[in-house]
Amino acid sequence: MPIPTIPDDRLRAVVRELARPLREISLTVDRDPARLPRLVRETLPWRQLAGLPAACRPAPLRVDGRSVTGESCSEQTVIWEELARADAGVALGLPGPVMSGRVVAELADTAQRERYYDLLAGPEPVWTFFGMTEPAHGSDPASMRTTLTEDPDSPDGGLRLTGTKRFIGNGVRAAIGVLFARRRAGPLGLTAVLLETSRPGFAAVPLDTLGVRGLELSELRLSGVPVAEDDVLGQHLSATRRGMWAAVRTFNRFRPVVAALALGVAQAAHEYAEEHLRATPDASRGYRAHGFGDQLAGVRAMVRAAALAADHDPGAGTAASAAKLRATRLAEELTVAAARALGPGGRWEHPLLDKWVRDARAFEFMEGTSNVQRLGIAQGGLQKRAGDGHADAA
Ligand SMILES: Cc1cc2nc3c(=O)[nH]c(=O)nc-3n(C[C@H](O)[C@H](O)[C@H](O)COP(=O)(O)OP(=O)(O)OC[C@H]3O[C@@H](n4cnc5c(N)ncnc54)[C@H](O)[C@@H]3O)c2cc1C
Repeated sequence: MPIPTIPDDRLRAVVRELARPLREISLTVDRDPARLPRLVRETLPWRQLAGLPAACRPAPLRVDGRSVTGESCSEQTVIWEELARADAGVALGLPGPVMSGRVVAELADTAQRERYYDLLAGPEPVWTFFGMTEPAHGSDPASMRTTLTEDPDSPDGGLRLTGTKRFIGNGVRAAIGVLFARRRAGPLGLTAVLLETSRPGFAAVPLDTLGVRGLELSELRLSGVPVAEDDVLGQHLSATRRGMWAAVRTFNRFRPVVAALALGVAQAAHEYAEEHLRATPDASRGYRAHGFGDQLAGVRAMVRAAALAADHDPGAGTAASAAKLRATRLAEELTVAAARALGPGGRWEHPLLDKWVRDARAFEFMEGTSNVQRLGIAQGGLQKRAGDGHADAA
């Protein structure tokens, strides 16, 4: 992955400006997430923000006259922090490749990549999904129940997908995505499939949620959805480099982005609190005693280090776990402290702050809870101590 050459602060300034309209529709989307697709079309610069590769982006993101691909994790963390500073729910609800694009980058052959990006590069916004988590087994791939089996009625060796996925971002509005299923028992039996949502047997229903409501978390119900061998990702790769391998690399690269999202929400709440506490010196002093300004700077440095580590080696996850753990905690603590400092009616009188308190809690679960991150950090430390030089191989 090429190291980005655009300075962070220049990229940050451009995206901050571009992201302003996200804040304007923040509370509208929070009230009614189903309105987001129309608002995206009407009010947002979605083409620049959709994260499409430069080759299929009609209006690329430009900084100081240069086109920014936004493909490196280092660039993505700056971009997503600024989008979340405007509004994390709307940012996560934008059309584009997001997580499924990472799996396509890792596993798709040329024809599958063209099929995916030809759809995304069209004139209309296209949403995608990443389907891993299940109702009874969460995001633990070892317990996955969704199956990809041979269809006995298919004359040409077709397959069928059966199962349920839950907490899938943008599920109800997606046109295409990547879905993980079990094709056979064992760690190598996990398979990723490129899937259009228009297929028979595919249904998506929105879930009622409290935080980042713009993402419209959904349940996907798969009742014998027909799948061809051409839809199965990674067939040209060795068995060890398919489903699980790609999932781990995608998580490792997306975790610094989740940390950046949490950081963006914390930054937004901090700026808001600083502004609204100016008139009340006592409350302001109490809030300032937390030293949130310094904590934000410290966590930003951690996120940057994690992003650089992921760009260097997408198999590495320890720095990303540490950054996500710390950023999530800061977002939770800061948003609550800001609401408290604004008095007993703080959340009622400041709807944006109330929203940020709710939004901050989503990051605890996205990409694994804090306990699971702690386990990852401990595992990385133990492997390093064992002296194998591959602290992040797991
Ligand atoms: C906003 C949002 C967006 C999401 N988007 C998607 C998406 O697009 N696609 C998708 O597939 N999923 C998505 N998810 C689901 C998300 O990835 C999972 O909910 C998350 O990874 C947590 O996994 P889990 O539900 O299996 O919980 P678990 O990991 O089972 O955790 C449940 C509880 O048990 C604790 N726990 C678990 N293991 C241990 C352990 N070994 N030791 C101690 N404690 C433990 C945890 O800390 C937690 O308190 C999303 C979730 C959210 C909130």
